[in-house]
Amino acid sequence: MSGSASSSNGQVEKDLKALQQRAGQILKARPAYKEMVDFYLTVFRRQIEWRHRLVVHPQTVDDDQRRECLGHGQPLLERYDPGIDAQSLLDLWTEMKKVFGRGNQVLRQAVDKIESAEQAGDFLPATWLLEQRPGRYELVAEAGRQIGIDESLLATLARAVTLPHWQMVAQNWLPNDGLEEWKRFRCPTCGGPPGLAELCTEPGGSEGLAPSPRRFMHCPFCGSRWVVPGLKCPACQSTREGDAKYYYTPEEPELRIEFCKSCHHYIKVLSTEGIRARLHVGLELLTTAHLDAMAQEKNLKPLETYS
Ligand SMILES: [Zn+2]
Ligand SMILES: [Zn+2]
Repeated sequence: MSGSASSSNGQVEKDLKALQQRAGQILKARPAYKEMVDFYLTVFRRQIEWRHRLVVHPQTVDDDQRRECLGHGQPLLERYDPGIDAQSLLDLWTEMKKVFGRGNQVLRQAVDKIESAEQAGDFLPATWLLEQRPGRYELVAEAGRQIGIDESLLATLARAVTLPHWQMVAQNWLPNDGLEEWKRFRCPTCGGPPGLAELCTEPGGSEGLAPSPRRFMHCPFCGSRWVVPGLKCPACQSTREGDAKYYYTPEEPELRIEFCKSCHHYIKVLSTEGIRARLHVGLELLTTAHLDAMAQEKNLKPLETYS
């Protein structure tokens, strides 16, 4: 085995282990998600295991180009070609259909309907997957109607396939998440809205500085993570004193909903003290769904409805 193959295997093992550990940690705190997590861990594992098979050749973006593009307020995808291969999407699609087809009855029936539509030539998944972009929700809605299955289910299946491809684009274009020239709340890679905020307290420097909390945003479409200024509304940009509010329950001190009194948009916030591995955004979003339900009860709006 070549050196690079064995080291990439090592990385896969490491990532699978980190995923398993984090899932265990979450289930200890939120056991109600057990069934869901058990199923989706198979999906997430497949995404990690398939990483070396995916074909993605993003256009080269050097440091100067990155700085120039982001400095003009443009996400990199508006200027550069992500170079995602259609056949690669189709291969993972075929694999993910198998995984979903082994799920519950609703998933099995949905996969059957998708396959019938594909065989009849009514639905072309490769082109459709290639066209997926943040904000192009109509692509999923139209296909869902055409095939006759639930839109959110089809979105989940599509994301399972596209996310690992886009993660490779993001890793290539945005190797470090500490981008000082990007202070916006849309994703610097793909331009999509963030799905989750992370509050991370890093240890102070060697000169005995106090630990400084950093606020990151996570993109559910491409998996990018980037730094944003604190106390600013991600939707209306309000920095007015008293606009930023939050809800949390004493049982889950690490989780909260941050919302803006002015525009009523909210974002889920996870405090990651004590979590060492980089977050798997899919797992975190899945296991914080009760916060979305809570936000809905309080008439708050998710960020996707903005823009
Ligand atoms: Zn993104
Ligand atoms: Zn606002």
